[in-house]
Amino acid sequence: MDRNAIEELRKVDVPPALHLIDGVRVAASDGGEMPVVSPIDGSVLTTMARGTAQDAAQAITAARQAFDDGRWSGMAPSARKVILLKWADLIDAHALELAVLGVRDNGTEISMALKAEPKSAAGTIRYYAEALDKIYGEIAPTARGTLGLVHKTPVGVVGAIVPWNFPLMIGAWKIGPALAAGCTVVLKPAETASLSFLRLAEVGLQAGLPKGVLNVVCGEGAIVGAAIAESPDVDVLVFTGSGATGRRLLQASARSNLKRVYLELGGKSPNIIFADAPDLDEAVAVSASGIFRNSGQVCIAGSRLLVERSIHDALVAKLKSMAEAMVVGDPLDPATQAGAVNSDQQLARNLAFIDEARAAGRDIVCGGTRILTDTGGYYMAPTIVAGVAQSDRIVQDEVFGPVVTVQAFDTEDEAIALANGTELGLAAGLWTSNLSRAHRMIARLRAGVVHVNTYGGSDMTVPLGGVGQSGNGHDKSLHAFDKFFDLKTAWIKL
Ligand code: NAD
Repeated sequence: MDRNAIEELRKVDVPPALHLIDGVRVAASDGGEMPVVSPIDGSVLTTMARGTAQDAAQAITAARQAFDDGRWSGMAPSARKVILLKWADLIDAHALELAVLGVRDNGTEISMALKAEPKSAAGTIRYYAEALDKIYGEIAPTARGTLGLVHKTPVGVVGAIVPWNFPLMIGAWKIGPALAAGCTVVLKPAETASLSFLRLAEVGLQAGLPKGVLNVVCGEGAIVGAAIAESPDVDVLVFTGSGATGRRLLQASARSNLKRVYLELGGKSPNIIFADAPDLDEAVAVSASGIFRNSGQVCIAGSRLLVERSIHDALVAKLKSMAEAMVVGDPLDPATQAGAVNSDQQLARNLAFIDEARAAGRDIVCGGTRILTDTGGYYMAPTIVAGVAQSDRIVQDEVFGPVVTVQAFDTEDEAIALANGTELGLAAGLWTSNLSRAHRMIARLRAGVVHVNTYGGSDMTVPLGGVGQSGNGHDKSLHAFDKFFDLKTAWIKL
């Protein structure tokens, strides 16, 4: 990592962030702006257009027009592919600039941002570009005298609403397959992480993305996001974020045009360590990074550690020493292992969970406090909470911070009962040398992804999605295409 280049980019002035509508950067229709606060030091980085419902409507009209006139959906797939591949290459060429801009905006440590943000966005766009001209319709096995054709047609205008933790990676998971399928998009980034996605979209124009195909409207969820969700001209809504917002989007769909709504929501993922784990030191190290990296602001974070009782105390002691050794601080320092909490509101929310646990007499093994206050930024010490009850809010609800709870179990059945004992079902982890046990547990765990003898990490070839109240859609892999195609049957008498 080039420290000097990062330091130079840290100093670059950030111009006011404007929407991208119909290929043009524009201010809010009423001139409204909101401050963009850097969680690194609490300073105001720049301002951002505070979008209005009218701005969202204008972007949707641009996307509708771009879809209906076929400038994108009607383009030869091989031509769409060339543009998307060029875009992916340009993202790679701008990777450091995009990563540093994103870190200044959202606080993720640069080591993780470089891996997970521009690189992953470029990889995603490339994956779907390469796949788009390998999708065929079907000829149905009908009786002689009839011909049944199944066409796959792009659904139309896609509304995408994304959160702040990985704006480029998650944004690309939405727009990659949508654009490759021939749809047009209106995306609303999160209030506290819009800058890097806007830049990524601008780079798309340089790659030849026709105007109106990808529109980005900044601002507040309750205004811009709600306007997209309520629009009768949006055909599909794809969302990553909290369950509370997900519920609102479903209601908005019901009130408007019954648009399909795909939700990727939160997690409260169990990470289960059996005494026969192949390497307990590795299990602890990977589990620590699986909850503390990016200050826990990772949807699949292993936030509930379930440990076989015989190794519980020793394991908690090891985890504590790792948590205390974790380098938390300036996200633009390549040595930092956990950067800033995204906003002062998120930090206050994290600390409220700890206050409640402390008041209930739970054991705050380490952390539990705001740190580095003199920086003006939002930092929290990696935190372990033991002695919790399954019904505690800190066990049931997603904190989305550097906070792990620890519970002991004696049997596989008990581990499963604790693991499955929340309403969420995004991810799970499992550490054991017993192959039969691993398969038994994979089958019984209620989760969209189960990691065995590792935690986190995967690639574009496998889907990511939750069960239960963690959502109903999948990002990544060829399965993600399904959301963006309609099936149209042609039934022909010969
Ligand atoms: P959030 O729901 O508050 O916000 C997400 C997005 O929704 C933002 O762009 C926001 O502006 C918008 N929004 C807010 N209110 C809205 C409304 N009334 N109508 C329309 N849009 C609205 O969530 P957040 O706090 O930004 O993100 C954190 C959440 O995202 C966590 O729960 C986390 O687990 C989840 N997440 C899930 C995944 C996954 O793949 N399942 C990945 C990352 C994050």
